[in-house]
Amino acid sequence: MPNQSALPIDSLMPITHRPDTVFVRGEGAYLYDGLGNRYLDWVQGWAVNCLGHSPAVIAKALARQASTLINPSPAFYSEPALELANLLTGASCFDHVFFGSSGAEANEGAIKLARKWGQLHKNGAFEIITFRNGFHGRTLATMSLSGKPGWDRIFAPQVPGFPKADLNDLDQVRALIGSNTVAVMLEPIQGEAGVIPADVAFLQGLRALCDEHNLLLIVDEVQTGCGRTGTMFAYQQYDVEPDIMTLGKGIGGGVPLSALLAKKSVSCFAPGDQGGTFCGNPLCCAAGVAAVESLLADGFLDRTRSIGAMLAAGLESLSRELSLGEVRGRGLLLALELGADVAPRAVEVAREQGLLINAPRPHCLRFMPALNTTADEVREGLANLRNVLKFCGLGAL
Ligand SMILES: *Cc1c(COP(=O)(O)O)cnc(C)c1O
Repeated sequence: MPNQSALPIDSLMPITHRPDTVFVRGEGAYLYDGLGNRYLDWVQGWAVNCLGHSPAVIAKALARQASTLINPSPAFYSEPALELANLLTGASCFDHVFFGSSGAEANEGAIKLARKWGQLHKNGAFEIITFRNGFHGRTLATMSLSGKPGWDRIFAPQVPGFPKADLNDLDQVRALIGSNTVAVMLEPIQGEAGVIPADVAFLQGLRALCDEHNLLLIVDEVQTGCGRTGTMFAYQQYDVEPDIMTLGKGIGGGVPLSALLAKKSVSCFAPGDQGGTFCGNPLCCAAGVAAVESLLADGFLDRTRSIGAMLAAGLESLSRELSLGEVRGRGLLLALELGADVAPRAVEVAREQGLLINAPRPHCLRFMPALNTTADEVREGLANLRNVLKFCGLGAL
């Protein structure tokens, strides 16, 4: 396989089909490859770089922390972890935070916390109702928690205890509730499924159902949290308070960081139940403080919402012009239905033309620009996307 680097590629496990491009630098909305080509990046490390590539605030926080204290061990307090935990509890309805390094790790923590709560308060109930096409990570338990087609077989046997319902179907959830049920867990907007939002009435109905049956409501906001949908957390747009929430992706501004948050009433880990070598390390937490402070700054998310509305309107108008399908999502987590299985090809053509986009499904494209992207960048991306889609034969009839 060719690639743009002088280094051989055979020593990396081929876990995905990578293009031969080798990216060497990132700045804000743009990535640069080794040949000097510039790409407008609407993937941003899969919604990870909330402030764009290598933003000065993150670089400075990392440099300062790296030369101060990188990791004293998770068994000691550190200033950055305390500061970030307080920022997150102050901005949400939760009281306690546990830090991890990946979204899957935070979700594993959520599963463990719910099962522990079930042991203490519900006769050992352990089942967590989740949703078809949901995505919660790539560890064995989080793959079992996920509802991705085929994932129940790849690494069988699965971790048991995760019955599945269809999103937005309250009756199906009700029918799955039994004496072993301890929680319901969902993404407020299913990201990998193609940006499918939970209805407001559905999430409110879930909250009521959980209250009625003494179940925990867990939201996986690894993708939707940290400003991505235009509010700090997506649950805030539903007028409900979950019991447990997980964060990842954008929380570190690009570095590996995740969080498990819980209300005090359900925060029942005893010392020894939960941990991890890198948990709450000052280096990543310092980046998290810089990222979260930026998102919480006056006016930041107002701008994200208006830029999101501008991108959505542009996609709507493209869809009308080229007779495509629905535009879905909130804030800067948006998807465009193409009406034909050409999304993987559109991703390749777009890359060749200097635009990075993602196809969560063969028939739809997903857009996750930096949350501080500018109106000019959005106009540039929309113009480029229009060319790409026409090149792929859309709108030709
Ligand atoms: C990306 C994602 C995860 C997994 O996060 P990792 O950091 O890749 O482990 C979990 N849940 C949702 C909703 C995600 O989008």
